[in-house]
Amino acid sequence: MSESDPQPSPLTLSIPPILSSTPTLSIPPILSSSPTPSVLLNTGARMPLLGLGTYRLRDLDDTLQAVNAALSTGYRSFDTASVYRNEADLGRALRHLLPKHGLSRADVFITSKLGPKDQGARAREGALRSLELLDLDYIDLYLIHWPGTQGLGVGDKRNPENRAQSWAELEELHAQGQGKLKAIGVSNYTPGHMKELLEGCCVTPAVLQVEFHPRLSQGEMRRLCGEKGVCFQAYSSLGTGSLLQDPLVVQVALGYGRTPAQVLLRWAVQQGVPVLPKSSHPTRVAENGRVFDFELTAEDMERLGGMDCGQKYCWDPSQVA
Ligand code: NAP
Repeated sequence: MSESDPQPSPLTLSIPPILSSTPTLSIPPILSSSPTPSVLLNTGARMPLLGLGTYRLRDLDDTLQAVNAALSTGYRSFDTASVYRNEADLGRALRHLLPKHGLSRADVFITSKLGPKDQGARAREGALRSLELLDLDYIDLYLIHWPGTQGLGVGDKRNPENRAQSWAELEELHAQGQGKLKAIGVSNYTPGHMKELLEGCCVTPAVLQVEFHPRLSQGEMRRLCGEKGVCFQAYSSLGTGSLLQDPLVVQVALGYGRTPAQVLLRWAVQQGVPVLPKSSHPTRVAENGRVFDFELTAEDMERLGGMDCGQKYCWDPSQVA
């Protein structure tokens, strides 16, 4: 795939009325027939290095547009969560779009997450609800979204008890013959939460998903994941958009004739860290997907890594007991 790939005329599709009031959706040509590079999980499955983030994709039309652009560009991974309230929309969009792109369920990797309100005794029910809303037989990766429980104070001792119970429930769903959760993992865990889990678990988490970008390089967490065979996955790689105007990022991007978003995403995937950029704009979704056809020099990787200052743009789980 490259920016100069020829662009055949778009196909036009009808969207069934149940899916959208919009009568047609233009399907751009598939720019890449080969899947994006992937990483090997400790389950033996492969997870694409590039996935579409869906936080704040609020309605079905938005989701259809973004997923369509993503599939056209070569994305094969999609990240949702119970708290995003768009699992049903993502499921519908994929069911509608996969055949249009000549793909099937097995060609894509779907991640969802257990909401903080379902931590503990309701974890099994929460995971089954995600499956039902997505309308899938299995989820490729299911994460505990947050180390705390909704409604409890951050210092409450029931937080560790509940997440241990959630993990045990997810282990059971993962291990059962039906294989409803192909891989399980956690998100927003600190090194402390992670060590506690690793000491008590039967199934080692496959993935840890946390905020990661040049201003937050998560050295301790990456080392721990590397030692224990846990895949370290990035969210908010663009600093939720705030890093796109950073003068150093802009300067590096100019040197490659690339955009700041592409440089930030390339910085992560070049280190083997999977990314999940989110955009509601099809052109940006496509732009964010074009990160496998250029390479940053070792010097530029280091310059960007030198921006690390522990800055978080998203959640801070460090106070959760
Ligand atoms: P992000 O991907 O770092 O940034 C998204 C923002 O950047 C949006 O405002 C988007 O606006 C804008 N954007 C995207 N591509 C752009 C481009 N090429 N040029 C200009 N602006 C661009 O932030 P994120 O949504 O926080 O993180 C990505 C995904 O990671 C989420 O959607 C979610 O799936 C996951 N995530 C997980 C957690 C967790 O707790 N596990 C937390 C945060 C995120 P437009 O949409 O208007 O283009």
